Amino acid sequence: MAAHMVDELAGINELSVSNWLEYDEIDWIRKCSKPFKKTLLHNYISFIFIEQNEYLLHKHLPIEVIMCLTDIMRKYGIDYSHLGNVEYSELEIDDVNDEIEDYGRKVFSFFLEKLEVIFVDDVFTVLFANKDFLYDFNSQIQELVRTLNQREHPELLRKNGVFKRVYLPQWLKKGVFMRDKGRCQICGTDLTKIFSLEKAENYDHIIPLEKGGTNDPVNFQLTCETCNKSKRDRNEDYNSLGSRYWDINE
Ligand SMILES: [Zn+2]
Repeated sequence: MAAHMVDELAGINELSVSNWLEYDEIDWIRKCSKPFKKTLLHNYISFIFIEQNEYLLHKHLPIEVIMCLTDIMRKYGIDYSHLGNVEYSELEIDDVNDEIEDYGRKVFSFFLEKLEVIFVDDVFTVLFANKDFLYDFNSQIQELVRTLNQREHPELLRKNGVFKRVYLPQWLKKGVFMRDKGRCQICGTDLTKIFSLEKAENYDHIIPLEKGGTNDPVNFQLTCETCNKSKRDRNEDYNSLGSRYWDINE
């Protein structure tokens, strides 16, 4: 599903960010104005997941939905036996009858009820570590933010296309620190304070507010004070600095 999200963001089904926000009914402007635990990316994953399964059901391909969703439910240990048991192992993927279509819809709605929140959050966890994906996601949102008029959102915007700076909650700082493994994402300096107490940590907007960046959790990264000061509002440096687990050449 995470890999599928990468394709969707690239526009494989014309559901990159701006098209998505035309179809979805979420208040994205408010969600960009301050950090919510359920991020804009959670909403995007949820929308794509539901859209994809509804499309398959609509196109009379319930077996695909059943196979995929029951497989996931088994992995999460969710008992779906009360939905009944429809035999489809002898059928082709595009074979269809009323009983199977009905079962497909039941499986889908039970999945949404039991597992949607957890599943979407697990997909989010994979994507939150993918800096290239996050950068592209934020860049697409940035295009929309730049069109916002301050007069229409005086409580959220500092000026046209620029959100106000907000207080960052501890849960967000902890999450970003953990994902970035305690290292400045621009120069790589260790900020864990295990080996050095000198360096202070900063939580930096990947796309600066001044350039149409948001306060959504997916637009933050860990940096050191020096890089944060030198970056300011000028550029959009980001990196995926992590340590290799071992060196394959040695
Ligand atoms: Zn640095």
